Amino acid sequence: MPRGLITKALSGFYYVEEEITKKIYSCRGRGLFRNRKITPLVGDQVVFQVEAHDEGLLTEVLERKNELIRPPIANVDQVLLVFSVKSPDFNQTLLDRFLVVIEANGLKPLIILTKMDLIDNEDAILPYVEYYQSLGYPIIKTSKYDPQSIKNILPYLENKISVLAGQSGVGKSSLLNVMDPTFQLNTDEISKALGRGKHTTRHVELFPINNGLLADTPGFSSLDFQELNISIDLLAESFIDFFNLSQNCKYRGCLHISEPKCAVKEQLNKNKIYDKRYENYQSFYEELKNKKIIYKKKEDL
Ligand code: GDP
Ligand code: ZN
Repeated sequence: MPRGLITKALSGFYYVEEEITKKIYSCRGRGLFRNRKITPLVGDQVVFQVEAHDEGLLTEVLERKNELIRPPIANVDQVLLVFSVKSPDFNQTLLDRFLVVIEANGLKPLIILTKMDLIDNEDAILPYVEYYQSLGYPIIKTSKYDPQSIKNILPYLENKISVLAGQSGVGKSSLLNVMDPTFQLNTDEISKALGRGKHTTRHVELFPINNGLLADTPGFSSLDFQELNISIDLLAESFIDFFNLSQNCKYRGCLHISEPKCAVKEQLNKNKIYDKRYENYQSFYEELKNKKIIYKKKEDL
């Protein structure tokens, strides 16, 4: 039976791109899925049965690598984390928060710094670039006045399912316009056809771009650790610099808060960005701990 990828879900139909011919079949899910609580998602690899020349019936959803809740997409490989260096100002706390969610979900980030034209000296941003690159996170610096800087993103999209993420106003649409002028047009047309605003729509679609696929809806509309099922242990593992140091902490499973002989704390005051990451880590830790207590109390009642 043919296999394919769900690239769009709309009004009860799943649009499946057959893996060899790349032909699109509009497929219905099966009643069976509902009983087994399987909701096919955009990004799912599926098996289907051809019913008419371009219609089919889903028979199986293959195992997922991961799934995002908002927006609902399966098998995401990469998140393009878009941050402007100015207006709005670069936000390290938000970056660290995104990175936790990305690490915890087994995704890869590509950090994209936009509006480089708005700072006259790169020195302000260079320490960040060097620090995050040293953790293995690739970074691309862009300006909409330098289209080539934006085209440098394209090779990263090949053979992957990617989603964009970032605050509004950081320049996500501007990036899309340069990477693929037809992309924006497509998403706008669909929003119009649905009679909804571009960002309020729940509709998700994967668009082909440079031999990869990119979701038309920004990823991670919620970064609530609790809602995303991130535990304190997972938080500690997701700060990869701290995780790497933790083998030198005296206590196994050290959470780097008040434990003695903590290798993570010993590194404090040596680098401003590291210090800020520690501050963020502490506040994320408190956030999770406090929420957990509230949750536990509710359970006790
Ligand atoms: P989005 O909300 O993330 O999609 O951001 P937009 O692409 O709509 O951009 C928000 C604003 O920032 C717009 O006024 C853009 O013209 C501006 N903008 C986007 N990229 C750049 C850039 O590289 N340099 C400058 N100076 N402005 C930019
Ligand atoms: Zn420690």
